[in-house]
Amino acid sequence: MINDLLNKLKSEKFADISVLLEAVKYFRANNQLLQAERLINEYSDFLQNSDELKFELANIYVGTDKIKEAVDIFESLINKSNLCNKTAVAVELAKLYKRLKDYKKAVESINSAIAQEPENINLYIEKIVLQRYLLDGAGAIETLNKVKTLKKEKKVETFINNIENVEKTRQETAPYRVFFTWGMHYLCNYDCAYCYAPKPKDITFANNPNNPAKYESSDVIIDAWKYIFDKYGMSRIRLDGGEPTVYPDFYKIVKELSKMHKLHLNTNLSFDVNEFCGSTDPGSMRVDASLHCEYTNLEEFLKKLEFLQKRGYKLTVSYVAYPDFLENIPFAKKSIEKTGIPFFVHPYSGFYENKQYPASYTESDKKFIYDIDVNSATELVWRKERKADYKRETNDQRKLSKEEIEKTESAKLAHQLENKNNGKFKICEMGRMYARIYPNGNTYRCCSSDGNTYLGNLFDKSLKLLEKAEKCYDVDNCRCWRCMVPAEESRWLHTWMDDWETEI
Ligand code: SF4
Ligand code: SF4
Repeated sequence: MINDLLNKLKSEKFADISVLLEAVKYFRANNQLLQAERLINEYSDFLQNSDELKFELANIYVGTDKIKEAVDIFESLINKSNLCNKTAVAVELAKLYKRLKDYKKAVESINSAIAQEPENINLYIEKIVLQRYLLDGAGAIETLNKVKTLKKEKKVETFINNIENVEKTRQETAPYRVFFTWGMHYLCNYDCAYCYAPKPKDITFANNPNNPAKYESSDVIIDAWKYIFDKYGMSRIRLDGGEPTVYPDFYKIVKELSKMHKLHLNTNLSFDVNEFCGSTDPGSMRVDASLHCEYTNLEEFLKKLEFLQKRGYKLTVSYVAYPDFLENIPFAKKSIEKTGIPFFVHPYSGFYENKQYPASYTESDKKFIYDIDVNSATELVWRKERKADYKRETNDQRKLSKEEIEKTESAKLAHQLENKNNGKFKICEMGRMYARIYPNGNTYRCCSSDGNTYLGNLFDKSLKLLEKAEKCYDVDNCRCWRCMVPAEESRWLHTWMDDWETEI
């Protein structure tokens, strides 16, 4: 079929815009974007007079990551009064502005689409999502009220419930629900060279007498999370460890929790995927799989990912840029991205051959990491200053002594006190919109320091979140690149509001 079309284009008698469009659409449908682009360039005379062909070209640019070129074409189209697919152009433009993190323009584009189709409920849903990136709490609620007046399907009801099931004041505060990290326990079935999760054998663990491992019964745990639901509404819980899936009664716990909250599983993917799918719901459970090449066979890892993907789970894959394993990254990335699953690189924090990372990455290492994953740049910058005192110092696992750690801890606390006395602080939403829970249920304002503000215990239900953004005196040492400092939302808000969080 495509050969017939190409032959027609070559013959003067049959070559016209409809044949060209058909051929371009054929290539697009078969994901042959470069061929489609080449063909349009070959017959560029047609381009000037055909908005439909320009629309095709812009979509090809989107597929080949030429975002600026795509935006230019869509913008030129949107202003034409006689354009017949104006809604589609406006929606595409909104998506691109969202990718570029220009949420104001994205909302304007969606408004253009709504002007064309004022009863299209999906456009209002997209507008709510975009308004929340703009911190437009009141505007988003107003749009939500409009959605409620329109005829809606069950999935839209779910979207509305996901917003309204959050406690009222938190519904209107970015990132619009409470996020918990629950370090379920310290055990893991792997022992990765770069692991910075506390382990029973680590001095971090021994130095953390306030938060030792404690295994409550599944009934106590489920009841505790019901208490959180009643008090703060539907929250997002990141299940962390160690390896969460080897926690006793893991499947019973997540089955009950996912009826109340959204779960986000940090896992090495070593579990049995059949059992997992039989006990969890893809609508409430997102899986962040980390690829640990010391322990994992890439082929088996990919098979498991595809198994979960087919059953509707949202997935991401991450990889630690440990100096020994840097060179594996391009192949791993290529293999994972063939499945369409996003792949992220985390800069390594800690010591390697007596050098501290990430500060010791060479310029070419950094470029290599940035080129693989632009998002890692923010993380890298934030981790640069971070003290890696708790981490392994060398491959032979030599550790700082208990005294050295205590000395560092005391120095940190003294520094915070000094900041307090000098009136030096920053305001942070952590503790109100986020909390970190240790295996014994003890809960703190953030992950930044074990000595940070204590908020009570989850399991005995003494946990109380802060009721407003409070002062933090850990001004210089905060190691969180996602810390929720008001007025710095452009840095952190999008890192909490991923697609799984916001889509219908
Ligand atoms: S799988 Fe994760 S928690 Fe387990 S050892 Fe490796 S990095 Fe640490
Ligand atoms: S600024 Fe950093 S250390 Fe302070 S509360 Fe926020 S996240 Fe924690």
